Amino acid sequence: MCRGIIVYSANFSIYWVIKKIFMHHFGTKMNLNTKKFRVSGQNSFNMKDHPTDFTAGIKSKSDAKTDLESNIKLMAEMQDMMYAHDKWGLLIIFQAMDAAGKDGAVKHVMSGLNPQGTQVFSFKQPSAEELDHDYLWRYNKALPERGRIGIFNRSYYEEVLVVKVHNLIKFQKLPDPVMDGDIWKNRYRQIRDYEKYLDENGIKVLKFFLHISKEEQKRRFLARIENPAKNWKFSESDLKERSYWDHYQKAFEEAINNTSTDYAPWHIIPSDKKWFARLLISEIIVEKLKELKVHYPVLSEDHIANLQKYKELLIKD
Ligand code: ATP
Ligand code: MG
Repeated sequence: MCRGIIVYSANFSIYWVIKKIFMHHFGTKMNLNTKKFRVSGQNSFNMKDHPTDFTAGIKSKSDAKTDLESNIKLMAEMQDMMYAHDKWGLLIIFQAMDAAGKDGAVKHVMSGLNPQGTQVFSFKQPSAEELDHDYLWRYNKALPERGRIGIFNRSYYEEVLVVKVHNLIKFQKLPDPVMDGDIWKNRYRQIRDYEKYLDENGIKVLKFFLHISKEEQKRRFLARIENPAKNWKFSESDLKERSYWDHYQKAFEEAINNTSTDYAPWHIIPSDKKWFARLLISEIIVEKLKELKVHYPVLSEDHIANLQKYKELLIKD
């Protein structure tokens, strides 16, 4: 019996070691089918068809670790080329209910990137100056430059989410004929047009909706209250917003259905398990960067010949 257990555990650890070596050298590629999570305009999006606790059969955080690490490495390599190439820009948008893990996703997924090629903007309630402009003004100013990855932690989508749920449109100083029109339908169209414009100008847009259950949000809020190190993350407004849960879910569903396009699709990220959300997000970003075929600038023959000349001059110096 005892011998059986020893043989079994020896076999098991050999299997484990081989698996780890294989994963390390050849990349695990658990073969996440990212298309499954994409809403691109062809298919309509119904919140209820998307489980929040899905993990594609991956059992644990440690099983996802190797793939996440290899994706982070790939992202860093491609970002370096993208920066040198200096033509494409990538805008990554994160939207979610409170405590769904936007901040953590930004922190972990982007951890390998060169800060010089990345820009993160978090959007809060607009200032008086911002309210004095058209609604896209503050977001447009924050777009990534060519060669860079820009991250929006919340975005112009708030303009059809929180603004719609709480009817904040009345503070946006819009003239009567605009208010008399179909505000939301018009905004969805304006956003589609804006993203088309960006796409046609070399700024690719990737959109992530971090989808959590109401129960998971409750667990995370309670953890924030119980853990003194997390207390700062919880405020009364989180409870107030939670009471509008159904309104937000509906607003998200409508926004996603009206702004999912081939050129700027939404991705519905099951986020009850943070490690799965991070893995899936990294996988989708890697796929997008590969699609862009970024590369280091190709130097002309003259340029290369000159480098030789400079080298000789430097050696003699
Ligand atoms: P955390 O997840 O850490 O709480 P957060 O993104 O929720 O981060 P907060 O400072 O808690 O940051 O909240 C920002 C608030 O700003 C959100 O409630 C959001 O809905 C609101 N907000 C963002 N954009 C707009 C906008 N255009 N109009 C009105 N409110 C906005
Ligand atoms: Mg908040």
